[in-house]
Amino acid sequence: MATTKRDYYEVLGVPRNASSDEIKKAFRRLAREYHPDVNKSPDAENKFKEINEAYEVLSNDQKRAAYDRYGHAGAQGGFGAEGFGGFSDINDIFNEFFGGFARAGAQARRGPRRGADLRYDLKIDFLEAIFGAEKEIEVVRNDVCPRCDGSGSEPGTSPTRCRTCNGTGEVRRVQQSILGSFVNVATCPTCNGTGEVITTPCRQCGGRKQVRVTRTLVVNIPPGVDTGTQIRLNGEGEPGVNGGPPGNLYVVIHVAPHPFFRRKDEDIIVEVSINVAQAALGDEIEVPTVDGKEKLVIPAGTQSGSVFRIKGKGVPHLRRNTRGDQIVLVTVQVPQSLTAEQKRLFIELSKTLGREVVPQQEKGFFDKLKDAFGV
Ligand SMILES: [Zn+2]
Ligand SMILES: [Zn+2]
Repeated sequence: MATTKRDYYEVLGVPRNASSDEIKKAFRRLAREYHPDVNKSPDAENKFKEINEAYEVLSNDQKRAAYDRYGHAGAQGGFGAEGFGGFSDINDIFNEFFGGFARAGAQARRGPRRGADLRYDLKIDFLEAIFGAEKEIEVVRNDVCPRCDGSGSEPGTSPTRCRTCNGTGEVRRVQQSILGSFVNVATCPTCNGTGEVITTPCRQCGGRKQVRVTRTLVVNIPPGVDTGTQIRLNGEGEPGVNGGPPGNLYVVIHVAPHPFFRRKDEDIIVEVSINVAQAALGDEIEVPTVDGKEKLVIPAGTQSGSVFRIKGKGVPHLRRNTRGDQIVLVTVQVPQSLTAEQKRLFIELSKTLGREVVPQQEKGFFDKLKDAFGV
């Protein structure tokens, strides 16, 4: 068999002392000329294989040396295990020059594609975020045209095969370059790669296959959401193309601030003030929580900045069946204006209190805040 083979140097049309660069150039030129996708002559495929085989040997220093010494037997024997290695080269070159990517693109344009995801920003109030809510939203998006059912053609008519590309979705152009002539494959500009042309466009969508619609959707907001929480509505995004599935709609939550409740993760913080007498004598007060008023015992001698915790009155956890706490921050209000009677009583009181200035040793206001909120 080996004896029937043509000389590899002859196949590539290079002298026996050709440099590896010259061999590569010759190979590229011949590969382009004889690639079976380009060259339709009956012997092109055999010629192409021959070129590839010659290049596989002559581009490898070891194989070339063996071939120079022993001929075809030398190149095959002992070196054949690597297989038809030249093919990776040829595929690279093929893609580079003959538009492997354009080809993939044309196929993608005709195949089913998933619709795009959509985003909707929804503002809700503080208590809706805590307890959950059901909200109606209006979303403007595309939908499959109901008149033509997404074909783009007026009912009763059908698209015709694109004459520019003959239905293949791609066009081939022979281009001349310094490297020789090669075929460039591109997406057909007439049909945009679909292979079909709509001759009688649908009257409702004008051939766009989709129409703009306003949809009213109900969003179920679970208890415990916060700003940035996303709620996914499956299949409510843009419609798919060519029978592909629709995308999803992501509702992004924005929680409006509350006049006096604030939130830190699962805890709700509220600040209340008591008067000097309540602080000194103690009291039972009512504080607002998200569930209504709650009683809170203020012990005698409560300092401004004291922090109390009401268990289980915070934010429901989104996934666990638990709730955070309400944190009550108590400040003591010093009266800024006094009636004559109050003034008299304070003077009486002051006589019983010392006037020494003592530096703070216990935890101060800011330390207590730090303890309570971990800031
Ligand atoms: Zn239509
Ligand atoms: Zn076309």
